[in-house]
Amino acid sequence: MPPSRRRGRPRSRMSTPLSRTSSSATQPNGTNKLLSLHALSKRYPNLQQPLKRTHWEGCRCAGTCTPTTCTCLQDGAPCRQSCKCGPSCEHQFPPCTCKTNGGACGEKCPCYLAHHQCSTACACPDDKCDDENNLPEVEVKDSQIPSAGLGLFAKQDIEKRRLIGWLEGQVEPHPKEPDFDCFDIAKDHSLRCSKEGAYFTNEMLFKEANAEFRYMEGKRRREIVIRAKRDIKAGEEITSQYTDRKQPPCFPPEDFQTGSYVLVKGEGEDDPWVAQIVSMGAGKKKMTVQWLLRKQDLGIIPPPLRKSIRLDKGELIMTEGWRDILDWETMIRVIYVREERPEDDELGSNVWWWTRCYDAKKKKLK
Ligand SMILES: [Zn+2]
Ligand SMILES: [Zn+2]
Ligand SMILES: [Zn+2]
Ligand SMILES: [Zn+2]
Ligand SMILES: [Zn+2]
Repeated sequence: MPPSRRRGRPRSRMSTPLSRTSSSATQPNGTNKLLSLHALSKRYPNLQQPLKRTHWEGCRCAGTCTPTTCTCLQDGAPCRQSCKCGPSCEHQFPPCTCKTNGGACGEKCPCYLAHHQCSTACACPDDKCDDENNLPEVEVKDSQIPSAGLGLFAKQDIEKRRLIGWLEGQVEPHPKEPDFDCFDIAKDHSLRCSKEGAYFTNEMLFKEANAEFRYMEGKRRREIVIRAKRDIKAGEEITSQYTDRKQPPCFPPEDFQTGSYVLVKGEGEDDPWVAQIVSMGAGKKKMTVQWLLRKQDLGIIPPPLRKSIRLDKGELIMTEGWRDILDWETMIRVIYVREERPEDDELGSNVWWWTRCYDAKKKKLK
């Protein structure tokens, strides 16, 4: 049974708006830093909720910031580095004390938690905290993720938490249709990304990704930065989940339907597998998939059989009966597979896949 023909999509990288729902409030865990953040969020209810705010630039208050005139306070947020009121404003977000607390500006840093870039007043563990003048070398080239187009790669080792870059672009009202070049940046507003640098980061589930996108109240305005989530080696492709870590990734379970072809990544495996979803469990929590093999996957077939199979790059064979039940979290993305070999040269670049079936009796592909 040949798989049904599927509608193609543009080959460009799939980006998606960051989730429009806000992240949940931080749980105070007993440390002073977090307790003070907890207290601050009582004063500024949208402290940790960038998407609930309508302004993505600091206030323009010439004098004292008051709720009647200050756009930061109206947004339920403290002032930030890009505000005109300056560091003496009593509403400015307080500098962190990560160094004196013996920590690093990581996930426990109040600046990080409140989406504020560390300022010169912060006691960061080293001077390199979000250093925009010392970005690591990266390059854009063909992604290692099949059908993903271009990807972003490290040209040097990048240490955990280092700033890799940020998304440039124009702020505009949310597009009416889903637009994969836009990230939500504030209530009703999106950042339309310029197609350069960090834009080419491909999506990976948060727990698998080596980098993290994050909103940040920066020196100029709110930005979406990308930081290393762990140490990244030179040559590695840089990946990040496009949505908030608590949200489903760019391709939420709704996108995975019976009949979809998907890339699946096993725990601890570098290379994804190709499968077709043949049935969906209740609540779409589990899925049954049928595996397809690419040329590079043939190693798992016993040698006598394997030798009689000739596959080109871009070709797949549907296995008969080899199925598994999977959690949707292992799915990376939906891919597009055709029933016929494409006439142009796209096959070699893996923009399209097409399937063939192996006839075990005749010992050849059909
Ligand atoms: Zn103000
Ligand atoms: Zn302000
Ligand atoms: Zn202010
Ligand atoms: Zn800090
Ligand atoms: Zn810092």
